[in-house]
Amino acid sequence: MPMCDFCLKHGAGGKWYLNAKHYSNKIVEKYNLRDFLLEQYKNFEQISIRKQMGFNAVGLGYKLRIPVIGRIIKNNAEKLLHSKKAPSNPFKAGGHIGQVVPLEDGIAILENCATEPIIEKNCMCRYMTRGIKESCCINFGVMSEIIDKLPRFIPDKDKFHLTRKEAVQRFTQHNRKGYIGTIWFGPYPYINNLCSCESPECAGIRPRVDFNILSIYKAEYVAQISEEKCIACGECVEQCPFGAIKIDKENRTVKINLLDCYGCGVCRHACPNDAIYLTPRDLIPEVAGKY
Ligand code: SF4
Ligand code: SF4
Ligand code: SF4
Repeated sequence: MPMCDFCLKHGAGGKWYLNAKHYSNKIVEKYNLRDFLLEQYKNFEQISIRKQMGFNAVGLGYKLRIPVIGRIIKNNAEKLLHSKKAPSNPFKAGGHIGQVVPLEDGIAILENCATEPIIEKNCMCRYMTRGIKESCCINFGVMSEIIDKLPRFIPDKDKFHLTRKEAVQRFTQHNRKGYIGTIWFGPYPYINNLCSCESPECAGIRPRVDFNILSIYKAEYVAQISEEKCIACGECVEQCPFGAIKIDKENRTVKINLLDCYGCGVCRHACPNDAIYLTPRDLIPEVAGKY
């Protein structure tokens, strides 16, 4: 039974992101999100670098290390990202909270929850940090309709209007490459993005990893290794995007630091011996409730 506060409040007894209600066009109409999202994505790059509540994103790492100022920025950022107020200002990243999801849950989202049309757009985090366009951000419903009108998000080469089955195939390909599956409210209470991210490029993951801002929840799971099956080859160490796996070459042992594990499950794809498996976070006392 998941314990994350979003699941308890918005999951109808299960995981919040498997509650189809959050994907519906009814929510779009209720909050007039068609205009809101069009305005937000027309100005996506500018919004990412503009001041939020008086603080400029430039030199954020330095500012976060200043004792009082750092705490104020962190608290304000979390308040904004976790906001459950009705979306009103498209120029603010309010109500944009997400969670890491392993391959199985990403597939369940695509098969059971995602509203059509489904498209795959260019990842803007990679574009803004590395200048490359890679299509790996899967959108649903009204969000897809909006992106369809904004040429810079449209992949040059890849087919981007996807059937449900094609979306599952694409998400699986990305996950096998080691990209981190993530699902997002954008804005709360509407879910419209299933992403395949890299760290540190992802603007949602980086604040968490580098600055300990709760910008994304860890998955409902943690990874564990079967000692009988593991041959200590070290392939999973390279694959883990969060540096959670360590190898002791002398003793030929491999360990996952459960507190560092985000439960993305991509280490499993690198293992030649099928030695890694996911366990629900809440069954492991060391990490239960620690999202
Ligand atoms: S959230 Fe992930 S896939 Fe989506 S735009 Fe950012 S890095 Fe790309
Ligand atoms: S050890 Fe945890 S964080 Fe690292 S790849 Fe595996 S599931 Fe993801
Ligand atoms: S990839 Fe598999 S076999 Fe190799 S060290 Fe990791 S868990 Fe062990």
